[in-house]
Amino acid sequence: MPQKLIGKLVIATHNAGKLTEMRDLLAPYGVTMIPAADLGLPEPEETGGTFIANAEIKARAAADRANIPALADDSGLCVEALDGAPGINSARWAGPARDFGAAMAKVEQALRAAKASLPFKAHFACALALAFPGGDMHSFEGKVFGELVFPPRGKLGFGYDPIFLPEGYARTFGEMTGLEKHGIPTDGSPGLSHRARAFQIFAQACLGGRTVQ
Ligand code: IMP
Repeated sequence: MPQKLIGKLVIATHNAGKLTEMRDLLAPYGVTMIPAADLGLPEPEETGGTFIANAEIKARAAADRANIPALADDSGLCVEALDGAPGINSARWAGPARDFGAAMAKVEQALRAAKASLPFKAHFACALALAFPGGDMHSFEGKVFGELVFPPRGKLGFGYDPIFLPEGYARTFGEMTGLEKHGIPTDGSPGLSHRARAFQIFAQACLGGRTVQ
């Protein structure tokens, strides 16, 4: 059973979209969140072969450098007809300029090249890793299933959100507010996004009760 977290927590990401969602998700728990960039922490190379391995690399590097517990997120889009690609390479498909318009076009081209048939089934996966300085590590995973739509729809969210239509919904993540996408219902039912779902398991294991409703 992981020890409960109190006080400060480094968020080991330099991705503004993830940071916003983590800030919203952590808000009710009274934990002081410190973005890695505020401490000048470098981004370690993601050499792992899975989302969990890469989240653990990022959390370990940040916790040991900052000497404060660190939470890292590794996530991505897995497309069934592309054998799970881009998967752990989701950020790399956007190139050094982090051009997600180009990355979404690349996914569409790959699907057409593979002669994939509709619906283009896909899921987002999120691994969260919590590392204590020089010590324990705990990891949690969440997924959300759906299909891809082209052309992209909506300007909200980040990354591949405009092409992802979650199962049972008529709007893409790019057409949803943050609260709809990653908010956690207060009635105990699961959140919608992969990040919200991973966070729910993490919060149950590692955070105390909510301080704000
Ligand atoms: P990494 O975890 O830093 O390797 O980057 C994962 C990449 O996956 C991000 O840069 C996004 O492009 C994509 N991604 C992860 N989560 C989401 C999400 O919630 N919406 C849209 N794209 C996402």
